[in-house]
Amino acid sequence: MGTTPYDWLDKSLVALRRAHRYREVQSIDGMSGAVVQRQGQTLVNFASNDYLGLASDPRLAEAAIAAIHTYGTGSTGSRLLSGHRELHRQLESAIADLKGTDDAIVFSSGYLANLGAIAALVGTPDLVLGDEYNHSSLRSGGKVSGATTLDYRHCDLDHLQELLAAHRRRHRRCLIATDSVFSMDGDLCPLPDLLDLATAYDAMVLVDEAHGTGVFGQRGAGVVEHWGCSDRPLITVGTLSKALGSLGGYVAGSKALIDLLRNRAPGWIYTTGLSPADTAAALTAVHIVQQEPQRREALGQNVNYAVQQIDQTLTAAASPPLQRLPSASPIICLQSPTAAAVIKASRQLQQAGLWVAAVRPPTVPTSRLRITLMANHQIDQIDRLVAGLQLLID
Ligand SMILES: *Cc1c(COP(=O)(O)O)cnc(C)c1O
Repeated sequence: MGTTPYDWLDKSLVALRRAHRYREVQSIDGMSGAVVQRQGQTLVNFASNDYLGLASDPRLAEAAIAAIHTYGTGSTGSRLLSGHRELHRQLESAIADLKGTDDAIVFSSGYLANLGAIAALVGTPDLVLGDEYNHSSLRSGGKVSGATTLDYRHCDLDHLQELLAAHRRRHRRCLIATDSVFSMDGDLCPLPDLLDLATAYDAMVLVDEAHGTGVFGQRGAGVVEHWGCSDRPLITVGTLSKALGSLGGYVAGSKALIDLLRNRAPGWIYTTGLSPADTAAALTAVHIVQQEPQRREALGQNVNYAVQQIDQTLTAAASPPLQRLPSASPIICLQSPTAAAVIKASRQLQQAGLWVAAVRPPTVPTSRLRITLMANHQIDQIDRLVAGLQLLID
């Protein structure tokens, strides 16, 4: 028979499978935590971004349920029309207080916060410089804005300076965008030096604290606080969906910045306000982050222990099939030569009762196991992970 305009779909899927790039969802049964049930199997969970274990905290659930009883399930419209509640304002004030900024604005997701902020801050006459390993939402924001976008080599400030020297003066405004904790590598952006460079070239800086908020800094404000940069002018973006255990995103910064976003960010103006349940859960989480530093301390101890044990295991092997990427966060990545090898390793760990994600191109340049630690992992669970990795080596 004849062909149709949709035939390419099946062909593309075949190509994805052949390249070991085909992906599919896997369902968790019930509550997510340090241990999960997945398709009848009990697994220790090293695959979530719920660093502080708040997604299953009963206090967040209670706040969400109370908000539903008070306000209903949907916010019914855009924030500028029928979708605004006092609860949104309370959350925005709490985020600004945590971050030590004038103000904050919440979006429906972190992805949308990046898209909305970047598109509102720069346009066709402008320049966006981004780390090559930045999150997809930062890249998409640059594209959507219509600005000239250039990547600098990962955390390479010499390269960033070269690009600034070569291109900055040909553009009206310049925005440097970076993850604070790189989500698929686990290392940190060298923020203080990056900010100096930005000042020298009259550039704005947008830092994505998706994996930093609640995890880094004495007060849990993030990597900006960790580096002592809280007083420097910059634009912070983040998500409510990782350490804060809810759903949504935010931008925090100066009064003028937030006021401008309320007037100019289409991804905020033309979309429905955050649901009452998500808003209330996130508000409770922000308070817990501030009031319970012991969660951050427990997480830090788990990270140190896991890194030490994993390194011991890998260095003892004659030719280790995995190589640990340098990281300084709860995201520990073990690089593997091929996508097929990393999928096989993840399956073997699953058979040992461990859930570790296999991350492959095009998400990352090289395949790797991505291990994420939580504050509520127990030492014996980390020992099981290390024993599982040992089985991959033997
Ligand atoms: C997860 C993530 C986002 C997106 O946040 P969502 O709220 O999940 O849309 C943005 N940036 C980084 C670095 C992330 O890891």
